[in-house]
Amino acid sequence: MTWNEISETQEKVVKIIKNSINKQRLSHAYLFDGSKGTGKRRVALQLAKTFFCQNVQGSNACEKCADCKRIQSGNHPDVHIIQPEGQTIKIEQIRDLKKEFSFRGVESVKKFYIIEDAEKMTVSAANGLLKFLEEPDGQSIAILTTTEVHRILNTILSRVQILSFVPLTPEKLIENLENSGIAKPLAKLLGQLTNDLEEAYQLYHEDWIAQARNIVIQLGEEVCTRPHQVLLTLQETWLPHFKERAQLNLGLDILLLWYRDVLRTLIATDDQLIFVDQIDKLEKHALKSSQQKVSQHMANILEAKRRLSANVNPQLLMEQLMLRLQEG
Ligand SMILES: [Zn+2]
Repeated sequence: MTWNEISETQEKVVKIIKNSINKQRLSHAYLFDGSKGTGKRRVALQLAKTFFCQNVQGSNACEKCADCKRIQSGNHPDVHIIQPEGQTIKIEQIRDLKKEFSFRGVESVKKFYIIEDAEKMTVSAANGLLKFLEEPDGQSIAILTTTEVHRILNTILSRVQILSFVPLTPEKLIENLENSGIAKPLAKLLGQLTNDLEEAYQLYHEDWIAQARNIVIQLGEEVCTRPHQVLLTLQETWLPHFKERAQLNLGLDILLLWYRDVLRTLIATDDQLIFVDQIDKLEKHALKSSQQKVSQHMANILEAKRRLSANVNPQLLMEQLMLRLQEG
């Protein structure tokens, strides 16, 4: 990862940080504010590398020295990441951090710490941290990250430089996925399911999303051409793949996208299709259906999603949904 790569998604943040590095005017404390999946930790670690790297070139870390490598693998002795324990970040965690800081000089005098989900600090933890932030020694950098900046105490806000991370647009996310070698149909689907690049890669991992997509296509096809097979496919293929409730919810989302594509085929807005490589099957499905029917089926899927969140048995829920989707 380099600043240029990160800049593709967080241009403004990277520009500010690079500028500060070049002028040797890094702040001693930053607050990274932005929704989940915007790359806050990635930027923090990149900054840590630049801070410790033995061969910095301009504003870029070398990625090869011992410091860069240890930060990359998550075991640099002077880079600390604090995360909530349970629901909160407690005063003990801040005290431990301070203790850590009193052992100086083992590796270097520099220290770098990241406090993730900083809005979850208890009041006493936040006050403990304040003392830290009030006494910058020029040798340490603190990064606080948050998704809820309004919950951070004003006393803290006034002592940090705030950098706002922008959410990834679906187009940017798809572009990123395609650039890393993921095929267009899958990248388009992932772009509909999440705006978190990391989550997208997780779903892609071990072909999970590719298989999920194939199962939805198969089921969509069977519902309108071979309805007698649907319950078997449900039993043998669908339920084993979408085991967890969250997975089943994603399965229903993908099924909903399939029906939305059928609708788009019917009303000839097929330039916006997600299943771009399945036009034949979508047209077949569209021929056997109507706008009214497809709209009804989409409502059925949304209803199934609601019932899923109300803890209905997944198998029962899916069997009932399949019967509704087969109705004319
Ligand atoms: Zn380096």
